[in-house]
Amino acid sequence: MADEADIANDAILADMERRIAIQRAAANRPPVTHCEECEEPITPARQKLRLHLCLDCAQLRERANRVFRRD
Ligand SMILES: [Zn+2]
Repeated sequence: MADEADIANDAILADMERRIAIQRAAANRPPVTHCEECEEPITPARQKLRLHLCLDCAQLRERANRVFRRD
């Protein structure tokens, strides 16, 4: 039987795996110089991380994910 610590561990692992999968998918893409959402230029630091959203859009999306996530 899974106790609370196991359940919490599973949730943390699942979250880590999800983040790694997102980063792997991003690494396979060519660098993006302009935001996918608003087409504003992306800073070189974010380009290096293969991010495809500007900081504003990334923050908006992160906030939306937090509101709508059901896990
Ligand atoms: Zn943007």
